[in-house]
Amino acid sequence: MKCKRCRNAAAAVDLPSHHSAFCPDCFFVFFRRQVEEGIRKFSLFDSRDRVLVCVSGGKDSLVLWDILMELGYETEGLYIDLGIDGYSDRSREKVLAFAGAREKEPIVVDLRREGVPIPEAARKSRKEECSVCGTVKRYFFNRVAASRGFPVVATGHNLDDETARLLGNLLHWHREHLERQHPLLPESGEGLVRKVKPLWRVSELETAAYGFLKGIDYVTEECPMSEDATSLVYKEALSLIEEKMPGTRSKFYQGFLRGNGKPHEGGRGKGTGRNEAEGREEPVHCSVCGAPTYAETCAFCRLKEMVGKGAAR
Ligand code: SF4
Ligand code: ZN
Repeated sequence: MKCKRCRNAAAAVDLPSHHSAFCPDCFFVFFRRQVEEGIRKFSLFDSRDRVLVCVSGGKDSLVLWDILMELGYETEGLYIDLGIDGYSDRSREKVLAFAGAREKEPIVVDLRREGVPIPEAARKSRKEECSVCGTVKRYFFNRVAASRGFPVVATGHNLDDETARLLGNLLHWHREHLERQHPLLPESGEGLVRKVKPLWRVSELETAAYGFLKGIDYVTEECPMSEDATSLVYKEALSLIEEKMPGTRSKFYQGFLRGNGKPHEGGRGKGTGRNEAEGREEPVHCSVCGAPTYAETCAFCRLKEMVGKGAAR
């Protein structure tokens, strides 16, 4: 099959959802345009913004960092070493190799050094690993962005991730989560940085194809803490529908975004890790670290204290 764009070279990537098939060079053009349109559509950031890109060592985040550099944005990578034996070391290696090849040095936060490696923090706080991981990541996204002057933090969530999340939120009618689901979560005066998902228009397959054709080496294993089997079920269900009706994922998400209007303000809310039990209306500064919080002590510092004490409260 010939490339549908240049009609010259052999097609390497077949994209039924776009009624297209592209050779590698034309696929790069297509992919760049999709990401550019995703950024432009909701004004995620512009060329004056320094973007902090959260990289895990996996395909999506490294592709995100690569394409943002390629599009000429000023970026730095943030790698949070979760302190998971073996997996974290292999992920860190991939991030360092990727960055080194581009004469970059990622900012590294080492959770072992911070006293909260995820497996231990989960065990001692008697919480789920992914919930602890979410609290810790949100904390460092804000802290690193604030201390180093980044106005925006970008993560590598793609169309498959966002539609799986949307389906889950709809099936369970998580209205508060639905309100907050958007490629742009604006900053708030409470010291919370703007968070964006520039890959929201591209599918997992397209991201993987871009990574492969660009020769990006990433960690292929899943995080061993991953137990979120439900999101995989939603992804599989959507893949089945997509196979029969190409383009459904994109229509599903774009239709939702059209109906959902403007992005929800980046203030307090469920799922942000900021709706602390104390019920304050206005945020205050954490009595330990100074981060914005609705409790006297922020969720991160409370977690750290629990880990330090070595027992659940
Ligand atoms: Fe963190 Fe859970 Fe994701 Fe692992 S699977 S990186 S623990 S959120
Ligand atoms: Zn704190």
